[in-house]
Amino acid sequence: TSLLDRIERLDGELNTFITVTRDQALAAADAADQARARGDERPLAGLPLALKDIFCTRGVRTSCGSKMLDNFVSPYDATVVEKLEAAGMVSLGKTNMDEFAMGSSNENSFYGAVKNPWDKSAVPGGSSGGSAAAVAAGFTPAALGTDTGGSIRQPAAFCGVTGLKPTYGRVSRYGMIAYASSLDQGGPMARSAEDCAHLLGAIAGHDLRDSTSVARVVPDYLAELDTPLSGLKIGLPKEYFGDGLDPEVERAVREAIGVYESLGAKVCEVSLPHTHLAIPAYYVIAPAEASSNLSRYDGVRFGYRCDAPADLEDLYKRSRAEGFGDEVKRRILIGTHTLSEGFFDAYYRKAQQVRRLIRQDFLDAFDEVDVLMGPAAPTPAFDLGAKKDPVSMYLQDIYTIAINLAGIPGISVPAGFSGQGQRPIGLQILGQHFAEAQLLNVAHQFQ
Ligand code: GLN
Repeated sequence: TSLLDRIERLDGELNTFITVTRDQALAAADAADQARARGDERPLAGLPLALKDIFCTRGVRTSCGSKMLDNFVSPYDATVVEKLEAAGMVSLGKTNMDEFAMGSSNENSFYGAVKNPWDKSAVPGGSSGGSAAAVAAGFTPAALGTDTGGSIRQPAAFCGVTGLKPTYGRVSRYGMIAYASSLDQGGPMARSAEDCAHLLGAIAGHDLRDSTSVARVVPDYLAELDTPLSGLKIGLPKEYFGDGLDPEVERAVREAIGVYESLGAKVCEVSLPHTHLAIPAYYVIAPAEASSNLSRYDGVRFGYRCDAPADLEDLYKRSRAEGFGDEVKRRILIGTHTLSEGFFDAYYRKAQQVRRLIRQDFLDAFDEVDVLMGPAAPTPAFDLGAKKDPVSMYLQDIYTIAINLAGIPGISVPAGFSGQGQRPIGLQILGQHFAEAQLLNVAHQFQ
């Protein structure tokens, strides 16, 4: 109750939740208490959690930040929701997000922007801005987010929390509303790497209902947290310290890397030569997949339907015109264009080729070093309303997006504050496919 009261008191201003499931949470907390009294020793039982409103929850509205799904109550739970509930966790509700996870500031939500709890004139980052801000505001110790091009790591950095994007396929996407299916991955956001390790252990694993989830044993993510780092080889991609990097972010990140050197790690420079192609490739591939995924919102089967349609054509057109926001429409237009005959080879196929080169850059780097480190975002959180033009928003993703194209895992860890307004800065740590335990270990040693 104390967290629910805190949310009630303070969230009117911050707007981190779209839906608070007070009654269900109280009932689940009671059930967990009773189970504990009977000797239930599940480590996560009774602990509170918030879910990005992209995860389907049975009987509870799942809006995905969109007017299109404002009236949508899912008939089933996402696999990760099922797993966390089976572990005894208590969901407090569904957090705010950019519409269909498209954005880097949470300003594209149908439910309004979220304020950064550290500085209320700043954005919380996006698209999992509500989850990051809810953890930072002390509304919940843990939350789930999703990351297609940085949406866990960048808001974690902006809000001073820890956020992990797992390897593509590590966590089931079943029941997670699709944005760009070959890039989307759900993951934990919390106050420490240790808490993220607990959550990841609970949600990871193969799922027969998601054919892209990987059948590979889930290690004990807590077991390696205390492994010493002496001899760890850290690579600093030189492309991640170039033009456009805010000097305060660079200073904080370099100081953090200094801490690792003092722990016995060896640091060297590496190169990811195709980094400059990551944003262009992503903004072809992600909208292409999105335009296909979003074709299911037709006003017929579920979601928003326009008033008094004249005929079927009118129903499709007006339901989509009225139900989707501007950024979503922009992506659908880009996606249908790049997939259309005559443009497919020039854009979509080319982007897929670039994607392979980007992946190979990372594989080559990991021949030389164990992990890569750099900033999670080029600047600390920017002001609400500051980025009006979409391309300047897309450039926010410069250090996060290539990772999704390559499928590798990445974590953002709080690494200090900028002077102006005390806005948090995130250190990003990247590892090889399925190296989550190592990333959590490296992050934990810093904290
Ligand atoms: N900002 C990126 C986009 O708008 C990434 C969003 C995400 O990871 N969901 O596509």
